[in-house]
Amino acid sequence: MADMTDELGIRRGHALRAAVEQGLAGQAEPVVGLLDIAGIAGSAKALKAAFATPGVAITHTFAVKAASLVPVLGLLAECGLGAEVASPGELALARAAGVPAERTVLDSPAKTVAELREALALGIAVNADNPEELARIDRLRDTAPAGSPVGLRVNPQVGGGSIGAMSTATASSKFGVALRDPGATEWVLDAYARRPWLNRLHTHTGSQGVPLELMAAGVRAAYDLAERINAAAGRQQVEALDIGGGLPVNFGSDEVTPSFADYADLLRAEVPGLFDGRYGIVTEFGRSLLAKNGTVLARVEYAKSAGGRPIAVTHAGAQVATRTVFVPDSWPIRVLALDAKGVEKGGEPVVQDVAGPCCFAGDLVAKGRALPLLESGDHVALLDTGAYYFSNHFAYNSLPRPAVYGYRVPRDGEVEFAQVRAAQTEEELLAESGAGFPALRLQG
Ligand SMILES: *Cc1c(COP(=O)(O)O)cnc(C)c1O
Repeated sequence: MADMTDELGIRRGHALRAAVEQGLAGQAEPVVGLLDIAGIAGSAKALKAAFATPGVAITHTFAVKAASLVPVLGLLAECGLGAEVASPGELALARAAGVPAERTVLDSPAKTVAELREALALGIAVNADNPEELARIDRLRDTAPAGSPVGLRVNPQVGGGSIGAMSTATASSKFGVALRDPGATEWVLDAYARRPWLNRLHTHTGSQGVPLELMAAGVRAAYDLAERINAAAGRQQVEALDIGGGLPVNFGSDEVTPSFADYADLLRAEVPGLFDGRYGIVTEFGRSLLAKNGTVLARVEYAKSAGGRPIAVTHAGAQVATRTVFVPDSWPIRVLALDAKGVEKGGEPVVQDVAGPCCFAGDLVAKGRALPLLESGDHVALLDTGAYYFSNHFAYNSLPRPAVYGYRVPRDGEVEFAQVRAAQTEEELLAESGAGFPALRLQG
């Protein structure tokens, strides 16, 4: 593993320097997102290897919200992964990337009738969130083809992790059927008994901040329930367990910990029946597949000082690192100080703030961080930002969505970049901001 960790950092170093040298980040485009193509493929491979079990059908889907970029979904599809989608837009992205229907899962908590109808028509898997949605599916199934696997999402209520907003298995989480509520388990058993076509069961116990043991406890609860449903049916009615995603990411170093193997091994110990061949397994990892394979590269526009504190004003702030800026204690990220050529700076660490371009005081990606002193014309790299950062733009100050590039680092030779997304143009920005409509008037 040490080798792979080193390689990730080495490839990233080459890519950062090449991105500056080739002008991907510079005067014209002061901030870009970079993705390590070999790294992404490596993460997908590690995931598949961790869960692979003879005789068990496993479908790994990628949670599209973690990197809603069509060429990335295409790469993951090439690697054999599918897509977990939670909106019509995400479904459209997955389809545009060529993700096959049998590897697509629709999971949103607020699916409309039209979305459900489309999903059933396409034959993609649907996980119902609640009793009302299940009743809608009952009605739609009268006319829809019967190809879609359908499951019910349950909330095992095993508890939360260190980040409240990421904890989906608390007593009152908004997701799924809350299993420990009075009468809920009985209701679920009855719901399956009445619907012989209900053939999956889904849980997603949380994301960043949820410990592995809690995730495994959530899967265990879903497995136990599936066993009860199947015993009552006298057959393998629940054919597959969808265990969600949520593997946390280490934002403190290049080390991948916990790994997919750590989690799969824990599941084999805690829920051995899941791997004995009776159940198919569906997974929905997002952050853990992409985070460490992405970097934001931004130019330092100015260096200044206030109240004795040096401040580097860069082009990467809340528009690309929204969670880090607004909830810094839960989402700290590593920042590298790079020189004007994109090479990591040496020099005595100086406690400084690394600020973004947004017009509010809290727009800092690092506060009081000891780094080689940043100067105007330097660059900063925000590490581990491949998931949920530059793919989930926040349109504050009408700052454009930055361009995104994938990179390949040949053993010897130049770094190659492949464009994933163009930077948002001023025309697009104007159109999105209603520039095509006349000014509002007091009288019509
Ligand atoms: C967000 C989400 C995921 C992915 O979570 P990660 O923490 O990125 O792995 C998977 N399943 C569902 C239902 C989700 O909402």
